[in-house]
Formats: sequence, structure tokens, C-alpha cells
Amino acid sequence: MKSNLQAYRGSLLHFLADPAFSDQSHDWFEDGLLIVEDGKVNAVGDYAALHASLPPGTVVHDYSGKLLMPGFIDTHIHYPQTDMIASPSEGLLPWLETYTFPSERQFEDSTHAANVANFFLDELLRCGTTTAMVYCTVHPQSVDAFFTASEQRGLRMVAGKVMMDRNCPDFLRDTAETGARDTEALIQRWHKRGRSLYAITPRFAPTSTEQQLHLAGELARAYPDTFIQTHVSENEAECSWVRELFPTSRSYIDVYDSYGMMRPRAMYGHCIWLNERDRERMAETRSAAAICPTSNLFLGSGLFDFERADQAGVLLSLATDVGGGTSFSMLQTMNEAYKVARLKGSYLPALRMFYLATLGAARSMQLEGTIGNFSTGAEADFIVIDPQATPLLQRRTSRSGSLEELLFALALLGDDRAIAATYANGRQVHVRETT
Ligand SMILES: [Zn+2]
Repeated sequence: MKSNLQAYRGSLLHFLADPAFSDQSHDWFEDGLLIVEDGKVNAVGDYAALHASLPPGTVVHDYSGKLLMPGFIDTHIHYPQTDMIASPSEGLLPWLETYTFPSERQFEDSTHAANVANFFLDELLRCGTTTAMVYCTVHPQSVDAFFTASEQRGLRMVAGKVMMDRNCPDFLRDTAETGARDTEALIQRWHKRGRSLYAITPRFAPTSTEQQLHLAGELARAYPDTFIQTHVSENEAECSWVRELFPTSRSYIDVYDSYGMMRPRAMYGHCIWLNERDRERMAETRSAAAICPTSNLFLGSGLFDFERADQAGVLLSLATDVGGGTSFSMLQTMNEAYKVARLKGSYLPALRMFYLATLGAARSMQLEGTIGNFSTGAEADFIVIDPQATPLLQRRTSRSGSLEELLFALALLGDDRAIAATYANGRQVHVRETT
């Protein structure tokens, strides 16, 4: 049988380990070649060494002067909040009331949900994001609309129906029983169908009764290879609310722990106001943190502590948290992550930030080998980054003396304009329009 071999030439970067803990964290081929076969990575290496191995007649797509790297992974984002990004508000709780809940109400309508899902996915691909962990709304049809759209594009996506049975408007409320029943039906319909993966998604502890959290924990045990996603310790007002609602819990994240929701493939959004024991529990249980810097700065929630998280060995990744976040771009998310680290007295090298947005996220999701780098057999989700995308980027990157300087300029100055093309499963799913 004739295989479908494609080759891509360009400067090639991918990660093998966390640069914070390893001296051999990445492969960098200035003139590199990526060979893709039937949607999977077949080989990567120096162009000079590899191109002779290509069967005669293989087309080599020439991206010389540009960077080829694995697609970005955004580990926390709300697709129903696409239309309300950049809404002004004084803090998280009033912002939820004024903008979020009314926007989410519209997802009762499947046509509206499909329309937003399509725009949302196109926007992710324009920004070079090929995988995301996505919150839908309380309506099961919002999940069907999302996975239908992501399946059409051949994307590896994780998503789930929000479970929320108290402290929210009636029109967005499920019950402990319907929330669990709908979630189980969606797991059976979508989890591991093609590239789709399901996440059990209680919105956050204050909007779930103990019975709902109990049933979510039971589902997490019954379906151990599903994901779990929720919010934790985002801002101080929310943390004191959780203390009132769950007076016997040791801490906010302990609420989830007590219902069996700390385990591999559990992704906790924000993780700002954690204590040492919380971080230890995250590391022990292989639960992961989704760091959302643009959202945390926008809502004034707080500053993530990279140093303490690293000391405890917590699995880390970066996330936009749109619509609390202010950009779909993982490059802009790195830009803000860098500044958050500075304000906490730590330093985030660009190499680390690109790791966190690719292999670090894949590891956090227990998907290393499937996505996140160019290991042989990995799914060929990759992007083409153009260091000359804007006049300023062109000027600055032409003076970069090292890979670190090049990546740093891309993270600080880049956005969707820097993404020349996006590929998913070896197929081109976005190409930047040139003017
Ligand atoms: Zn969020």
C-alpha cells in the first residue's frame, strides 16, 4: 500500500524534557526536516542528513527561514465566552453575573452553539493552538456542537459539559442527578471517538452541591481515563466563599480531593492561592495546574507562584482562560506569564515557556507520545512560525544572537500574525492570508 509521505523543511524545534530540570531539553535543527506519514511523525532531523532517505518524488514543503514546532496546547479555555472576551468588570464574581451567565444561556440553542464553536476553533488554529481543554456550558447540546466542529477539522480536543447545580441562575442550573446522567451519556458518545476526549467538568466548588461533587467523583472513578477540569484558588473572595461553603475542608483543593477528583488527567485552572500541602497533593496525585496569566491580571486575581510550584514538582502548563483571558494567542499568554513570574521574583526563560505550551502541557495531560513533540509516531500537529511576520518582529529577530533570544522576541512581540500555517494530523488546517 502506498503511504502518504509529506516532508517539511524549516528551522525545527521540539522538546524532550523540561528545560528547568534538564540540560538536554530540546532538539533544534536550524535547517531541519520533518517527515510525516499518514498523519504521524515519521522522522525529524537535519535536512542534510535526512532528505536523502526520502523516496524519489516526495514533495518537500519549503518553510526555510521559518520555525516548525509542535502545535500549542491551551489547557483551560471556555468556548462559550468567545463573544464576551474583553468585557469590563470589577472582579470575577460580578463579571460572572453580568457577562458570563447571560452569554452561556444562549448555548441552549444548538445553532448558536455550532456557530460559536466554528468561530472559536478557527481562532485557535489561527493562533497555532491545535489542542485545548475546553469548558462548554451546562447544556449537553453545547458539547455535541463543539465536538462535531472539532471532529470536522480532525483536531485532538478535550471538552466537557459544565456541571452546576447551585449558586447560579435557574436557566443554567442542572441537578446532581441530571448533571451526572448527562455527563455519562456524553462520555459514552464522545470520549475517545476519533480524536475527541471527554473532561468531567464541575465549574467550581461553589456552584456544585456536595451531592454533585460526589457524583462527579464517582464518574471520575468509573471512567479513569477521562479528564477532569475545574477551577481552584483563583481569587481571595472566591477562596473565602469556599471556606464558608465547605467549613470542614482543609483547603479549597481539598474539597475536590475529598471527592476523589485529584488524579492523573485532572486539570486545575489558576492554582494561585494554594498552600504547601495543596502543592504536595497535586504532585502526589499527578494533578496538573493550568496557569492563566492574562486572565489573572485582567480580573486582578493574583500572581501564580512558579517557584513554589516547581519546588513541589507540580505538573505545569499555560492556558488562555478566554473569556477571562484577554487573548487566544499562546504567544501573548507567554508574554504575560513572563511578567507574572517577574512580579513574583522568578525568571521564566523563553525556552521554558515554549516547553510549557507544548510538551509540558502534553505531560500534564498524560498525552506525551501522542501530542506535544515530534517523537516518532506522535500525531503530526504542528505550526509554522514566521519570525518576520511584522516589521518590528523582522527587525528584532534579525538581531537575535541565540535560540533563546529568538524565542523570547516571538513570545513578547508575537501573536496570531506570527503563525504562518497550522497543521493537524498532518493536514493543513490554517494558512495565514498574505496581503
Ligand atoms: Zn476558567
